[in-house]
Amino acid sequence: MTTPDVMVIGAGAAGLFCAAQAGQLGLKVVLIDHAPKLAEKIRISGGGRCNFTNREATPANYVSENPHFARSALARYPSSEFIALVQRYGIAFHEKHKGQLFCDDSAEQIIRMLLTECERGGVERWQPCSVSDVQSDEAGGWRLQTDRGVVHTPQLVIATGGLPVPKIGATDFGLKLAERLGHRLVAPRTALVPLTFAANDWAPFVPMAGIAMPVCISTRTPTGGKGKKAFVETQFFEDLLFTHRGLSGPAVLQISSFWRPGHAITIDLLPGTDVLEHLLKAKQQSRRHLGNELAGLLTQRLADAWLQMLGVDGTQAMPQVPDAQLRRIAESLQAWSLTPAGTEGWNKAEVMAGGVDTRDLSSQTMASKHHPSLYFIGEVVDVTGWLGGYNFQWAWASAVACAQALKQS
Ligand code: FAD
Repeated sequence: MTTPDVMVIGAGAAGLFCAAQAGQLGLKVVLIDHAPKLAEKIRISGGGRCNFTNREATPANYVSENPHFARSALARYPSSEFIALVQRYGIAFHEKHKGQLFCDDSAEQIIRMLLTECERGGVERWQPCSVSDVQSDEAGGWRLQTDRGVVHTPQLVIATGGLPVPKIGATDFGLKLAERLGHRLVAPRTALVPLTFAANDWAPFVPMAGIAMPVCISTRTPTGGKGKKAFVETQFFEDLLFTHRGLSGPAVLQISSFWRPGHAITIDLLPGTDVLEHLLKAKQQSRRHLGNELAGLLTQRLADAWLQMLGVDGTQAMPQVPDAQLRRIAESLQAWSLTPAGTEGWNKAEVMAGGVDTRDLSSQTMASKHHPSLYFIGEVVDVTGWLGGYNFQWAWASAVACAQALKQS
């Protein structure tokens, strides 16, 4: 082949979309991915139905050392644009929860749509194909050593994603390359991931495995500042799931992106209810057993397990339960503070927080400030969305910002 205008490494969400857009803008694009199967993360996303965007995505839904970095790209390619594209392809979708849009049928439809968009842009795809070396060339472009030989390209886009789920192709290729070429990195960490606890600490909660309930969850993230600015508090109202090893469910996945090792999370298992007031009133008016009274607020199974965990006798009649004990129960349910030992790790994380430091990239174009013909898009950049379609929206928006810049260069 003759020299392409652009090579994109990584044919996931961001790479496919960027290649398609650049191709449709008239550029000759080669898209490379080392994985044997195309876009596995899209395929497994949203439980197989791909939560492809969030209707209400704003920069406030992203975690980054620079919370303003995502603003420009998201404003120029808002979720309404991607929704319009999905509609043009006749893909049926529904809103599940808080603006989260899922395919009615299958994530395969999004992959097919992206492939068709690539075909419309005349994108040449090399897959599986590995890149063993990347060097700048004398012309200000790039020389790539690939399975298919040496290729030169004037512009290079890195869309190799984050570290989660290595068994389907995730690598640190983008991070390593960025670092070697002089970019700072924000230390990668697991995000949108279940939290785990030391086996001994968790033993009393194991009988609760499988229980799910809406909660308010919060944590205080250290900022490196002083006094009142030393921490920033984040809270979510979402569903919690007890597991055999710890906590999961949307509430925990959300807070995991803000949690830092050694710090506590706090959970209100009955948000909107004043549990102490309820129990003190019941003490006056009810002759039921404590366990049954509490089951009216929780479920019998959780009430029994919770009292057992606290070492409180659930068979006491309400009028006999000391106020101090009711206070302890209420506090344990509404300000349950616990310190996770860790997370379920890269195999279970949905995204990577951290990545290429945005101080070294242009928020308008995603171009490197050190190498103007090099771009980073998608999850490899230190922009991490909340749970709920925000990560794909970042992939689409950063891809479009990059494609437009490629055309102008
Ligand atoms: P990816 O989609 O991960 O693509 C990176 C590509 O680069 C891959 O194809 C990989 O094979 C390739 N690659 C890596 N290293 C190399 C290399 N050395 N050489 C060549 N190619 C390479 N987000 C949402 O918004 N909604 C959801 O419903 C959702 N569900 C998810 C469910 C799961 C289980 C997981 C793990 C993630 C989910 N996400 C979801 C997150 C979302 O999938 C990612 O944020 C998104 O795919 C990032 O896009 P990307 O293009 O940057 O990276």
